[in-house]
Order: sequence, then structure tokens, then C-alpha cells
Amino acid sequence: MSSAESIFLKHVAQTSPFPLKIEVSKAVGSYIYDKEGKDYLDFISGIAVTNIGHRHPYVVNAIKSQLDDYMHVMAYGEFIQTPQNRLAEKLASVLPPTLSTSYFVNSGTEANEGALKLAKRITGRTGIVSCKKSYHGSTHGSLSVSGNEVKKYAFRPLLPDVHFIEFNNTEDLKLITDETACVIIEPIQGDAGVRIPSQNYLQALRDRCTKKGALLIFDEVQTGFGRTGKLFAFEHFNVVPDILTVAKAMGGGMPVGAFISSQENMSLLTHGPMLGHITTFGGHPVNCAAALANLEVILDENLVDGVEEKGQLIEELISHPAIKEIRRKGLMFAIEFDSPERVQNIVETCISEGVITFWFLSCPESFRLAPPINISESDLRKGCEIIRKAIAQHAWIQQERSSQK
Ligand code: PLP
Repeated sequence: MSSAESIFLKHVAQTSPFPLKIEVSKAVGSYIYDKEGKDYLDFISGIAVTNIGHRHPYVVNAIKSQLDDYMHVMAYGEFIQTPQNRLAEKLASVLPPTLSTSYFVNSGTEANEGALKLAKRITGRTGIVSCKKSYHGSTHGSLSVSGNEVKKYAFRPLLPDVHFIEFNNTEDLKLITDETACVIIEPIQGDAGVRIPSQNYLQALRDRCTKKGALLIFDEVQTGFGRTGKLFAFEHFNVVPDILTVAKAMGGGMPVGAFISSQENMSLLTHGPMLGHITTFGGHPVNCAAALANLEVILDENLVDGVEEKGQLIEELISHPAIKEIRRKGLMFAIEFDSPERVQNIVETCISEGVITFWFLSCPESFRLAPPINISESDLRKGCEIIRKAIAQHAWIQQERSSQK
């Protein structure tokens, strides 16, 4: 074991008994390089984060330039900071008019915490409706509204008055009542294994929320910033939430998130109580400068336009009879097989052959693909070739074993 590995295992807190332990030396564009000089094509973008690739030069320059001006100067909400202003204004320009005001935080889970509190403050209600198999984050509030029981049982009691409905089931919408403060939902479920709802469902959900006076929160932490072939996934469905949460790909590799709503809604956090939601680091100027640059790259280079075509090409290139199902929107993929073991083997082979793919939290029979949306066609073809070979290798092993029985 290298000394780096033993320090990592001993002094850096672990989240599982099986970390990948790739020792990173550098990352550029669609590639991550390890200390031995091996290169890996990043086909998951650090879990839907580096949508415009690693260390995009425009983002790196924006960070450097902001570093020369100032870093942290004051807790969120007191001083006027140009990077926050410019980012908030830019976000407002690409979102519907009712999503005009951003509250900046540091992560996806914090964005959801803020959104849940805001919904309670606006409605004066406590009930929260969420979906089975959803994932909204790992802090207490977000965990409470996440639908995977396996991740929750050890941490109870969690938030009370949370009710779970089945995703994409219109019958269940009757559980949204006059006591519901909000419904929090991923417009396309990510960690459930890329579940895409029907157009009808999200519209019926919107109508039910409006009828009952419940707020609709769309968690676009994973789907945002071009991943699904629109800047935000809700654009596919023409259904606008009352509160939108974003993070992950927002910062071009830097940690920043936001919950976004109307100015009228957001103003309620200034009184009753005053300082209704506070953060020291939220809206950090360097992260906001990176996020603005990231958004400008996506918009100026029309990156969203190429997403669907790239998604289709991947689907064609990895096609194999052992695949049970591909669920995909844009460049957000779940590739499903007949068993978690086969998925495990394929993912491990891909990684050892130099393509990073990964598992889902709540869908062991699928693996995920989410390459950078600006990946070159040649890298895309190269990665798909490795994935297809890994699939073929493990499909063959399985067949061999069953024919020997
Ligand atoms: N919401 C969704 C839909 C996510 O996919 C995630 C992370 O995977 C989160 C929230 C939590 O984000 P973070 O890990 O930045 O707290």
C-alpha cells in the first residue's frame, strides 16, 4: 500500500469499505490522470458536476481573476459583491420571471434545506410530500425527504410530517392536501436510476399543487445546466416550479448551489424571523465567479444544442443484447442489466480499462453515464468502445457459466 493510500484510509474519513482509490494527479477536459500517468475518460463528470469538462480555461481564468480581487469578505447577504450580482442577474435572465431571485449556498443538500424552509415560511404549513426512491441530499432535512429507507434508518428521528408518493403516479397526487407546504421532486429522478416522468404527470402535479396552495419545488441539482438536453429539465415539460434548487454542475467544478424563487417569496426570509436563513460561505465570490463563467460557456458555446445528438450516438455505440434497458434524457443515462453483479463487473472493467462509470444510490441493476456535455466526438467514441467491450466481456462470461451448468 502506498503511503498516500494509507493516509487516505487512516486520516480521510471514508464513506464505504470500497473506495475507488484512484490517486489523482491532474484533470483536464474529459480526462482525469492518476499519479502513475494512467488516463481515465470521465464518463460521469464527477457525478454530473463537470458538465463543461475539468478546469475549463474560461472558468479557471474567472477564478484567478476573482482571487486577485477578493475572497471571503462577509457572511451572506450583507455586502454587495459583484460576482453574486452578476450570477444572480444572469440566472434570472435564463429562467422564467417567477424564478428571479437566487439565494446562494454551497451544495445541493443545502439548496434543498433552504427550499424546504422557504416553503414552510411562505405557507405556514408543515407537511412535505416527496417521492419514493428520490434523493435530495444527506443532511437531516434533505435526508428526511429522500425516499431510500436504507440510507435513513440509522439516523431517525428525522423530520416529521413527510409523506411519500410514488413517482409518476397521478393517483398518489391526492396525498397533496390543504396541509401540504410543498412537494419536492426531481423532474427526472437521478439516483433512482434515471426515471423520466410522463408529460401528464408533471402537469397534473403542478395543477394539484396550485389547487391546494402547496408549493412545487423542483430539485434540479443533478439535471441542471444542460445535462438533459435543456438548460434545466423542467423546460422539457413546460412546467414551472415555485422554487428551483440547483448545485453540482452550477460551479463548473466549484462548490456552489442555490434555491431560486420569486423576490416576493424570498423576501420572507428577511423577517419573521429576521435572518430566516443564513450561511457564512454561501455565495462565495470565487465560486460565484466560476458559476457565472460556467453558465456563460454553456450559453455562448451553445453546448445544450449538441446534447441530444451525443446521447443518441452513445446509445448506438454501446448497444448490446445484454442490455435490458437504457433510460436516457440527453446525456443522463442509466444502463440496466439483469443483475447487480453484472453491473458491478462492467463498471469495474470500464474503470480498469480507463473509463469512469459509476453506480446509482437506489438502482443496483443499472450503472450511470453522464459525460461532459462538451466531450469531443472522438473521446465519446473511444469511451463507448471501452464500455461496449466491457459489456460484451461480461455478457460472454455469464453465458459461458450458464451453458456449463
Ligand atoms: N439532489 C439531487 C437530485 C442529487 O442528485 C444530489 C446529489 O447527488 C443532491 C440533491 C445533493 O447534493 P450535494 O451532494 O451537493 O449535497
